[in-house]
Amino acid sequence: MTPPLVSGRLPLRPELSGTAPYGAPQLDVPVLLNVNENPYPPAPGVVDTITEAVRSAATGLNRYPDRDFLALRSDLAAYLGTESGVSLAPEQVWAANGSNEVMLHLLQAFGGPGRTAVSFAPTYSMYPEYARDTHTRWVVGRRADDFTLDPDHARAVIARERPSVVLLASPNNPTGTALPAATVEAVCEAALGADVDGTGAPAVVVVDEAYGEFRRAGTPSALELLDRYPNLAVSRTMSKAFALAGARVGYLAASRELVDALRVVRLPYHLSAVTQAVARAALAHSTELLAQVDTLRAERDATVAWLRGRHLPDGRPLEVAASDANFVLFGRFDERHALWQGLLDRGVLIRETGPDGWLRVSIGTGKEMTAFKDALVEVAGL
Ligand code: PMP
Repeated sequence: MTPPLVSGRLPLRPELSGTAPYGAPQLDVPVLLNVNENPYPPAPGVVDTITEAVRSAATGLNRYPDRDFLALRSDLAAYLGTESGVSLAPEQVWAANGSNEVMLHLLQAFGGPGRTAVSFAPTYSMYPEYARDTHTRWVVGRRADDFTLDPDHARAVIARERPSVVLLASPNNPTGTALPAATVEAVCEAALGADVDGTGAPAVVVVDEAYGEFRRAGTPSALELLDRYPNLAVSRTMSKAFALAGARVGYLAASRELVDALRVVRLPYHLSAVTQAVARAALAHSTELLAQVDTLRAERDATVAWLRGRHLPDGRPLEVAASDANFVLFGRFDERHALWQGLLDRGVLIRETGPDGWLRVSIGTGKEMTAFKDALVEVAGL
């Protein structure tokens, strides 16, 4: 565990006192299944294109990068058009250093003192940090026992709290649950009535589709709702399906008006010339980079099926959440930390996260999943 950064001799904001920086342990073990990365590195041809793009960007590094990065936004819009069939102008796309920064921009523009952000737990544990860092009040509603979201509950929380931002992850982390289009629509409708600060303004609804490409065939993306809701932002990332977590590129699609608000809060030149070059080179090879998505989906479904057939030594069946992502949440264990440690002792790093008694495993290669299953059988006595 990282020790808390506390200092009685510095004027640290009181709400930061005693807190530790966010992040899963980064350990050097053979099987890394803890941060939902894509286990397949870029193919040699893609590495060559990226290298060439970086070499070319390097010749101009004495200059600041393109501040509005319209070429990259245009490539991202084209990619989203191919992936989801939604036509977008480059001005409707925004990007930053990972979708974490994209969502921080959203809270910087639309949250703030006296305002409220709402989400539904269990969900991504960075959301309360964006709220804390922007002095936005943080309120969580709840997901049902099967981790779905009841639209009536969502409507009631929005009507009661009148948030300026609603964060919905779909597929959700750490549960893997995808939201049906009707639920997202119900939230967008409720958000229209939020009347933020008594100005009549709607709440901004952020649908975080970091794992969107792993969703089941037939599940629509919230991108399809963009032309109906100017208060909707759909966030994506190149860190997961795209196998580019190390490049730090996240992005979103929304109305031009919403994107213009984000331009106000970004730092100047926040996306380096190197990042822009790498992202554009990677997007030119999106088919190759996304080639393993089907394999990972099949491996996920096989992992869910395998876990569902297993019982604990006391006869209880394992509980396994349905997943549309590249990870699976499973439990329940009386001593989840001991189980997590037991796997780590066998060289398999997974994530101790989610509700009490549950653990999350990212989907790796077939070989890595075999190592995970073998270690789990041994440690949990399945
Ligand atoms: N949203 C969700 C739901 C996530 O799980 C993650 C990464 N764990 C992110 C956003 C942020 O990813 P990145 O900053 O790499 O785009």
